[in-house]
Amino acid sequence: MKEVHYNGLTFVPYIEKERIAARVKELAAQIKKDCEGTVPLFICVLNGAFPFAADLFRAVDMDAEITFIRLKSYEGMASTGVIKEVVGLSEDIKDRNVIIIEDIVDTGKTIHNLLADLKKKEPASLKIATLLFKPEALVCDVKPDYVGFEIPKKFVIGFGLDLDGIARNLEDVYQLKENA
Ligand code: 5GP
Repeated sequence: MKEVHYNGLTFVPYIEKERIAARVKELAAQIKKDCEGTVPLFICVLNGAFPFAADLFRAVDMDAEITFIRLKSYEGMASTGVIKEVVGLSEDIKDRNVIIIEDIVDTGKTIHNLLADLKKKEPASLKIATLLFKPEALVCDVKPDYVGFEIPKKFVIGFGLDLDGIARNLEDVYQLKENA
């Protein structure tokens, strides 16, 4: 695998698609076990989580539903940090077993706010599945339930993750090459 270049930056191969596929299978098996006897509702957080969500949802070999949301952030409310409003959740999640699918948990602010919003809708359970997790960057009290890979606090792209809108279609995850 080769380095890739975007916006004058160099990225090196970091997690190959084969490793992602194998890990997705493991996570799906765990989710199936944990959700036995229920029909879980997956909520894919757009845009970044869509490739992971597509693979994970297909790998969960049981009756399940999926829906999609986007988050709208409000700047200018600095005291509470990143405020995100859920856009597009039409399903009633009351009493449902809900699994949020994220691409990455970095500071945790996004997921923290999303959890608070969704909790108000009284789901039976609310879990987080994330492809990537940067524990060193976490500033909120959140703990993802299903983690693909724990990674260091370095910028990554590919497999849904973007750099100013591009690079989401890379099949593997790449890490920013420092001092390039
Ligand atoms: P958090 O609210 O947890 O700090 O950030 C979550 C969001 O920040 C992710 O959904 C993603 O859009 C963006 N993000 C955080 N770290 C990275 C990274 O290393 N690469 C890319 N492409 N996006 C990131």
